[in-house]
Amino acid sequence: MTLPDASTEIPDALQVLHRVFGYDSFRGEQQQVIDHVVAGGDALVLMPTGGGKSLCYQIPALVREGTGVVISPLIALMQDQVDALTALGVRAGFLNSTQDPDERRAVEHAFLDGRLDLLYLAPERLRTEGTQRLLDRGTVSLFAIDEAHCVAQWGHDFRPDYLALSMLHERWPKVPRIALTATATEATHGEIAARLGLEDARHFVASFDRPNIQYRIVPKNNPLKQLLELIRTEHDGDAGVVYCLSRASVEKTAAFLAEQGIDAVAYHAGMDARTRAANQARFLREDGVVVVATIAFGMGIDKPDVRFVAHLDLPKSVEGYYQETGRAGRDGEPATAWLAYGLQDVVQQRKMIEGSEGDETHRRSLAMHLDAMLALCETVGCRRVRLLAYFGQPGEPCGNCDTCLTPAESWDGTVAAQKLLSTVWRLARERRQKFGAGQIIDILQGKKTAKVIQFDHDALSVFGVGADLSTAEWRSVVRQLLALGLLAVEGEYGTLVLTDASGEVLGGRRTLSMRKEKVPAAAPARKESGSRSGKGPRVPVDLPEAALPVFEALRAWRAATAREQGVPAYVVFHDATLREIATRLPATVEELGTVNGVGEAKLAKYAEGILEALSEAGAPGSPAPAAAPSEAAPLPRQAAPYEDEPPFDPDDTDPPWDDWE
Ligand code: ADP
Ligand code: ZN
Repeated sequence: MTLPDASTEIPDALQVLHRVFGYDSFRGEQQQVIDHVVAGGDALVLMPTGGGKSLCYQIPALVREGTGVVISPLIALMQDQVDALTALGVRAGFLNSTQDPDERRAVEHAFLDGRLDLLYLAPERLRTEGTQRLLDRGTVSLFAIDEAHCVAQWGHDFRPDYLALSMLHERWPKVPRIALTATATEATHGEIAARLGLEDARHFVASFDRPNIQYRIVPKNNPLKQLLELIRTEHDGDAGVVYCLSRASVEKTAAFLAEQGIDAVAYHAGMDARTRAANQARFLREDGVVVVATIAFGMGIDKPDVRFVAHLDLPKSVEGYYQETGRAGRDGEPATAWLAYGLQDVVQQRKMIEGSEGDETHRRSLAMHLDAMLALCETVGCRRVRLLAYFGQPGEPCGNCDTCLTPAESWDGTVAAQKLLSTVWRLARERRQKFGAGQIIDILQGKKTAKVIQFDHDALSVFGVGADLSTAEWRSVVRQLLALGLLAVEGEYGTLVLTDASGEVLGGRRTLSMRKEKVPAAAPARKESGSRSGKGPRVPVDLPEAALPVFEALRAWRAATAREQGVPAYVVFHDATLREIATRLPATVEELGTVNGVGEAKLAKYAEGILEALSEAGAPGSPAPAAAPSEAAPLPRQAAPYEDEPPFDPDDTDPPWDDWE
């Protein structure tokens, strides 16, 4: 780093934070971590996504002598990471398989000449003797092991090359190591420490709460229509991620959104590599793109302004759910995590577990993960408290999840459960038959459908005993019984069968308090909801309506600048910084320099452009021009291409690591 006036003295951490990153103060435990590593100590850092892990190694690398070597599995993102640092005036480079020999040589020379503050390396590259000798010949200030959970063998992101990282300490015993991850489970924590030889390192474990994320889980009835409603009413013009289980539903959903005039692109491992990379680049670089993806998308996506993450299918575990939803709101601004969940999800997932490869222990572990996820879906308590409890952390009812905002009512479902279970029992006992939820509910409601008549089910004594509940309510009962293990699904057709525990309910030894099905209503009111002005982006929180035209002008300036420089928009400035500029309307370069997120390098590079954009937008002093009228009328709504329960093919899903090299 070249600090203009202070190149002779060693900068301290706080100075670097101000001058390079343009931030006022450290967040959470950043300062303690940084001090520890600057002093040469090893550290293991568990911090949620958006917690600010990067600064924990970037600042020590800038303060200590030599180059900080960052080991990261995310080759596709190294260029963006280096661009972001370069924009801050930090001297950064990377070595990976995407470079030609000339590019590689240039980076190696910069390292050997001491002209690099940070060097990003893929783990497989570090394993080569050539790379190790290179590092011997230069000065390494620290090793940062990013995404450290990749060393955990039973985790879903395991990377064999990470195992070799235990040699860092043997080969370079004097160089401090800092391992970082956003994975919160105790098991992974222990495994990272053991495999990287970090038992004696200082462990920093932050709270895994993400207070700016509003968690919502809604009953699924027409997922595409529900998703469209969410985007139209709350996230028009926002960047978001929509997760689907299968590649086919990714395609279908992306096409549907695009038809509705939403800037949506698809991403899954079955697409050709070029289109996939282009779609990812658009999402990262431009404002307001929605990516519809399988779970192959997202590891390490450090786009800070993702405003919503929507799940159209149930995640397989609470860890997965937490990680995927965690990609929303890294910048700390309000964001939504929305999941539509239905009976079919439970049936589908149970079927997948039943048909999965691996032994009984493996299947049991999958089932336990699913059960925890179902319990989160069916809880009448605060979602956040549940989520944190899963990671062994305490929490208070949060006031920013659906159950806190619109408390879920519960009802005594014992009798309903008995009716349902005894229908399953009678079919099995009297007819030697098994059926799926649809037929059972038809019987309970007394519907004389063709299938009911065909099987003579209207002659059963339970026929019509459940006419008092709607189909949605019955489906909810089935879901909750499945979640509680009082009912099970079996076989290819997802037929319902009793479990060992069903007898307790049938025999009246167990009562059941159930979550009342809510009519899928409009979004619960957000505490600090941004006001809206027709089509286009919402007025961000804390932004007075009058500042909107200025903010929009700044965003337009940012988009043009980013395009010109070939970097993502957020690399130029974050929304929060633009918002502060739009409200404070700095008139001079000095004033602009006091805005959060404006460091010295960015000030030098962008002050002129910003001040010009401000004066063109009629600020400060002159009255701001009125906001542009919205040109397009809202598009007509269309029926969703599919209702609930799309056909499902397990081979059509992606493992989470497919986007890596
Ligand atoms: P993580 O890697 O833990 O997900 P990042 O390092 O990407 O998080 O940081 C998340 C966001 O918070 C980034 O946009 C970063 O610039 C910002 N940030 C980090 N530390 C601070 C701080 N001390 N003050 C203000 N913003 C910060
Ligand atoms: Zn809550």
